[in-house]
Amino acid sequence: MSDTVTIKRKRGLDIMKVREDFPILRTTVFGHPLVYLDNAATTQKPLAVLEAQDRYYTTINSNVHRGVHFLSQQATEAYEPGRKKIAAFIHARHTHEIIFTKGTTESINLVASSFGRKFLQKGDAILVTAMEHHSNIVPWQMICEERGALLKVIPVNEKGELVLDELDGLLKERVKLVALNYISNALGTVNPVREVLRAAHGMGIPVLLDAAQAIQHTEIDVQELDVDFLAFSAHKIYGPTGFGVLYGKEEWLNQLPPYQGGGEMIKTVSFEKTVYNDLPYKFEAGTPDMAGSVGLGAALDYIQSLGMDNIRTYEHELMAYALDALRGIDGLRLIGEARERAGVLSFLVGSIHPFDLGEILDKQGIAVRTGHHCAQPIMDQYCIPGTVRASLAFYNTKSEIDALVTGIHKAIQLLG
Ligand code: PMP
Repeated sequence: MSDTVTIKRKRGLDIMKVREDFPILRTTVFGHPLVYLDNAATTQKPLAVLEAQDRYYTTINSNVHRGVHFLSQQATEAYEPGRKKIAAFIHARHTHEIIFTKGTTESINLVASSFGRKFLQKGDAILVTAMEHHSNIVPWQMICEERGALLKVIPVNEKGELVLDELDGLLKERVKLVALNYISNALGTVNPVREVLRAAHGMGIPVLLDAAQAIQHTEIDVQELDVDFLAFSAHKIYGPTGFGVLYGKEEWLNQLPPYQGGGEMIKTVSFEKTVYNDLPYKFEAGTPDMAGSVGLGAALDYIQSLGMDNIRTYEHELMAYALDALRGIDGLRLIGEARERAGVLSFLVGSIHPFDLGEILDKQGIAVRTGHHCAQPIMDQYCIPGTVRASLAFYNTKSEIDALVTGIHKAIQLLG
């Protein structure tokens, strides 16, 4: 570990120093310094990640596993450690419980398709929550339709919290798997996943956690949580796009049929019979994203050098500051007021359309997201078409929150 990194870790985060690791944060937009508050959509990448991927393509690139030649062995040696780093990061028991995918969406599709084909019968059910991202609704809907199963929903109250009183009753309705997000990308709610896991496991039902918005904000120990499946995307944790992870307990992964067929996922192929490969390769058909693994490995090294505890403490402080600041704006209505929240602030201002507010903020260099955030069912529940969403990362500052508040005031003057 370098000296600067050790200093950062001991003294908490020196945000201005951390920001220097992210070249894109120096961008100006319409003459204003970029204020990037769209981190729930994707995070920016530190130099450590950019350089690791560049190094991979410049000096190592070759196809992995089967090659006898020098570069192919180098590529394999660069690619596989990513899996080890991820396993260590989420405290998986085995490295082969880490399956590489394109991202959260593909990870969930993999489980929906494989688990559904193996375990779902007519009249069975999958249980999700009313605040899921479309990626954790549609794959289940598709497999339920195919298998004649039903999609059931844990309700959400006005504050944006799960109504757990109904959980036990719902679980009894032939539920075969529960799939829920750890942190909502639309509301910022941190869900009581331990309670859900306890209730589901009490009835022998496995649980999949969509950790797309949790992996970057909170420490995750899959063994301590005892979660059966966990999905996340590299690009939300300062890593590259198009790469992601499915963690699955070995005993579950061994029971599931392969998701896709092709190279890498086989041991032997003949026209009569194909013998599938062992974990994790059984689920990794085709040439993998080598640079993706290298990039995610570098991202995990980077954030561990800052310290997850430092990140959490700082983000907590920033969130409290932002909540206070937004609550001080006349006519601003937060959508989602859960007691436990992280990362995301969703809001509306008076009768201003979220898109108009987003555009005015953009002209001031402030990047927020507007719309339904791929969570239409929860927007429907609030009877709104969408919100403005500001989402935080550890490189954001209090002065960026002040800029957001100033920007909102400007929009109110113009449109309010
Ligand atoms: N689930 C949640 C909670 C998300 O926030 C997202 C990304 N917005 C996804 C799933 C899908 O992630 P990806 O597009 O990276 O597959």
